[in-house]
Amino acid sequence: MVVKTWSDIDLNGIKGILWDLDNTLYLYDSVHQIAFKACKDKALLMYGLNEETFNSCWKMARNKVHDDLHGQGASHSRLLYLQKLFEFAFGNTNPEFAIDLEEIYWSVFLKEMKWRSGAKQLMHDAKSKGIEMAIVTDLTTHIQLRKFIKLGLNEFVRFLVSSEEAGVEKPHPNIFRLALEKLNLKAQDVIMIGDNFEKDIKGAEAIGIKAYWIDDKTK
Ligand SMILES: [Mg+2]
Repeated sequence: MVVKTWSDIDLNGIKGILWDLDNTLYLYDSVHQIAFKACKDKALLMYGLNEETFNSCWKMARNKVHDDLHGQGASHSRLLYLQKLFEFAFGNTNPEFAIDLEEIYWSVFLKEMKWRSGAKQLMHDAKSKGIEMAIVTDLTTHIQLRKFIKLGLNEFVRFLVSSEEAGVEKPHPNIFRLALEKLNLKAQDVIMIGDNFEKDIKGAEAIGIKAYWIDDKTK
């Protein structure tokens, strides 16, 4: 079901909510752009890269990591993108570059992340109804836990399930099953809320979970 406003989501009669994190609890694109620029500025200043090389090597590195690790949480790893970016640009691994720029990327990213007000209100409402919640998210655990802290999710959410932990990414059923197992709930007891139709909505519906699709225009 497509959500036009957060109040389209019916909390009556459910025991649990599985939430996507990225681009659902906050809007991803603008935050990524700011973090990416901070990362690039440092690379240009400290490591002798020019902008064109940085941009083209980032793209090559990201595509290579996506292809090599398709279906795994590490396929989105900024650390791997940056390691390979330097390797494409200079022909060797530079551990300081990868570690330093990854930290800049994520620290700026976390600073810029802001709750979608409707999502936060819905979590509040669900919590007050005694509904159990878990995050079901594609990416590595370390950064998703940092986002969990930044958003203060422990106030509302009992568990996080990352695709690194599940060994598969959405829409694979095992990641949803792992969340249900942690919550000790059945598919028919919960709903899924997410922004990605293929991953969040079709993935959840394939194992009998009712799903709500929100888009960028849902405030
Ligand atoms: Mg998402």
